[in-house]
Amino acid sequence: MTLDNNSLAKIFEGYDEKISDSSKALEVIMTNIVNHFSKNTDAVITERIVRNYIETTWEPTVWAYLCNLTEQKANMHDWRTFLVFIVDNKVNGNRISRTNPTRDSKELCEINACETEPTEWDHVLPHSWGGPNESWNYKHLCQLHNRMKASSLSMFTRLVRDDPDYGQSFVEWIKGLNLEN
Ligand SMILES: [Zn+2]
Repeated sequence: MTLDNNSLAKIFEGYDEKISDSSKALEVIMTNIVNHFSKNTDAVITERIVRNYIETTWEPTVWAYLCNLTEQKANMHDWRTFLVFIVDNKVNGNRISRTNPTRDSKELCEINACETEPTEWDHVLPHSWGGPNESWNYKHLCQLHNRMKASSLSMFTRLVRDDPDYGQSFVEWIKGLNLEN
């Protein structure tokens, strides 16, 4: 048996957690910024310093790309706020502990085509990156899929782009982030 493109497409049908280019791009941006600040721990990292770094490091095309991910509903300022939050969370330590959502359980794992009973609540924007304990940010997954996904941003970038409800909740969350304290 040989696998042509059609057979491969059939195998992947409904199984969309392969790592997308947008996921890789966002992960590169987030990792670069966090690593930069992790190395410089002697200075106090303020919001202004982080904003200045990301404004001078990344080209306008990067911001346009991120804004397009959220169909322009989150603008450049919002995405920078998000990245400042990510740096603060990663470098200064996660201040939010993990909780499970007050939401109904699902009958099947929420990865398409998986027919296993879900046992674990997964943070779509991973908790390790600062993903919030809010019901919109959870998927109910089987143990294997939860382990496979781990801190990958694949599901996050896909849902931000393709799921209007998730995208909207994410944008509202960014706009509500208060970084003053
Ligand atoms: Zn599963």
